[in-house]
Amino acid sequence: LPRLPVFEAIARHDPDSTVVIHSNSGRRFRYGQLLGDVCKVRNRLYDAAGSSQIDGERIAFLVENSYDYVVTLLAILAAKSIAVPLSPAFPAPELQYILNHSEALMLLSSAKFATKAQEVLKTELDVEPTYLQLSKFQGDGAHEQMALERTGSDSAGMMLYTSGTTNRPKGVLLPQSVMTAQARSLLQAWEYSSSDHLLHVLPLHHIHGTINAIFTPLFAGSTIEFLFPFNADAVWRRFAAPFLTPDQTYSHAESRDKKITFFTAVPTIYSRLLSAHKNLAPDMQSATRTAISPANLRLAISGSAALPTPIKRAWSDLSGGNVLLERFGMTEVGMALSCGLDVADRVDGSVGWPLPGVEARLVDLDTHTVIERGQERDPTTGRERVGEIQLRGATIFAEYWRNPEATAREFVDSKDGRGQWFKTGDVAVRRPVEGAGKSNLPSQRDWARGDMYFILGRRSADIIKSGGEKVSALEVEREMLALPQVAEVAVLAVPSGKWGQKVGAVVILDRDNLPEGKWTPLEMRRALKGRLANYKIPQVLKVVDHIPRNAMGKINKKTLVKEVFQDEFS
Ligand code: ATP
Ligand code: MG
Repeated sequence: LPRLPVFEAIARHDPDSTVVIHSNSGRRFRYGQLLGDVCKVRNRLYDAAGSSQIDGERIAFLVENSYDYVVTLLAILAAKSIAVPLSPAFPAPELQYILNHSEALMLLSSAKFATKAQEVLKTELDVEPTYLQLSKFQGDGAHEQMALERTGSDSAGMMLYTSGTTNRPKGVLLPQSVMTAQARSLLQAWEYSSSDHLLHVLPLHHIHGTINAIFTPLFAGSTIEFLFPFNADAVWRRFAAPFLTPDQTYSHAESRDKKITFFTAVPTIYSRLLSAHKNLAPDMQSATRTAISPANLRLAISGSAALPTPIKRAWSDLSGGNVLLERFGMTEVGMALSCGLDVADRVDGSVGWPLPGVEARLVDLDTHTVIERGQERDPTTGRERVGEIQLRGATIFAEYWRNPEATAREFVDSKDGRGQWFKTGDVAVRRPVEGAGKSNLPSQRDWARGDMYFILGRRSADIIKSGGEKVSALEVEREMLALPQVAEVAVLAVPSGKWGQKVGAVVILDRDNLPEGKWTPLEMRRALKGRLANYKIPQVLKVVDHIPRNAMGKINKKTLVKEVFQDEFS
């Protein structure tokens, strides 16, 4: 195997310790068998390729969240190729798009998704990937010492597709050196260790799944437990298992003696867990509260979309003070900003500081100049300056695949010659926060310091330009969510002849807090007076029963605004 840092790390871990557990069956796999299995699959890739070179070629794969997924990903890296994870939830046209766009040389699938893979291969594709069905690993693999070559590999990497929230998904090329840099940054910031036991309940084909739930834990020697698809009751049963006595009636699979110490998810998952908790039996309620208390669940992380403060509060109340740690990430950059491990550093509404090894700056939306430290307010108006987050460092992606125009557009040259800046398209402010940024933990000292970043939203979808003012959709959402009558909300830019854009809101009401069952737009606006400046209060409001979100809890605002405010588009 090539000498990739992740293989070196795996080879150093205790071979008897558990690398992966399948939550439903309790089946477990050990670190000692991992590289042997990776080597076997790598050799099958070589066999299937025959005489063709696969260095740097794209190999797409459709595999369920499992040990086999981890092996497949690593085997593609071991072949010095580029892994393109596909989601089984994608409809055929989406899979077709990715196979074509990535110019996949091979398509791998597990037995479970063989039919799905065949279906896609039958459609008219511009490419002709070689298909290979992978056999299952049974978990009885012997410990095998694998020799690592002297050299690494620059051609190995991963290509992830963005969520497609604002446009067609873009192929983001992440060389293994970038993946390694991202993992090292998180190893320090979040102190992953061999005693961590992660529970992962989200799809794996996003940056979050790959880096936070696979790659970084592999470096640390942690245990990764997959429970998928997400089911709130099953997750609560799993959290509770080690804290139930044998006479309690819940199944107690072998794997379940281990408590979960690390949980990383998105706001909608926390929200669904909180609602499901209310319906649990009393003994389950108390066992789960113990399980998620700070003493047992070391770290619970939220990201991918803004974390509503009521969810954060409710989780903290339920768990006896386990305060969710919010982070900001992106396919192109991995995890870029994060709050800190100290509870005082998990500030409401903030995504914290640039992670170790990440450099960040804010570029003023109006003046296009860098907002230097101490210049966060406009000296004449006294107003906070709002800027786009730009990032650089070893954790940033290489390029958009086969899209040099987009790559050129999203990177800007630096004046100091220390590498280009990537324009995230996300807008933020930087503020001093009293009491934060003072951690004494050695892992936090060199980055969790100074003013903190607060995300205002995407430049393209969340910054509403209304009559010369800029309104942050995220800020309005935050204030609306603070009203007990509001259960969920999406704030959108609605076209307006008079204002250019006006602030619109799509609201799901919390019926429990509305004894009359009704709440008029006029009443809503009245409730927001005093919370928001007048120009930020939504001019058009619509109550709905459902706001569509993707698996990562993201809302496609472009589609939503057209659906809900159709009349305004004529
Ligand atoms: P596309 O680029 O195809 O439109 P996408 O940007 O949604 O899709 P991802 O790379 O999965 O694809 O998501 C990154 C985006 O998610 C960020 O640019 C940001 O807008 C949002 N995001 C991530 N974490 C947070 C957070 N903590 N708070 C607010 N927004 C966040
Ligand atoms: Mg994006």
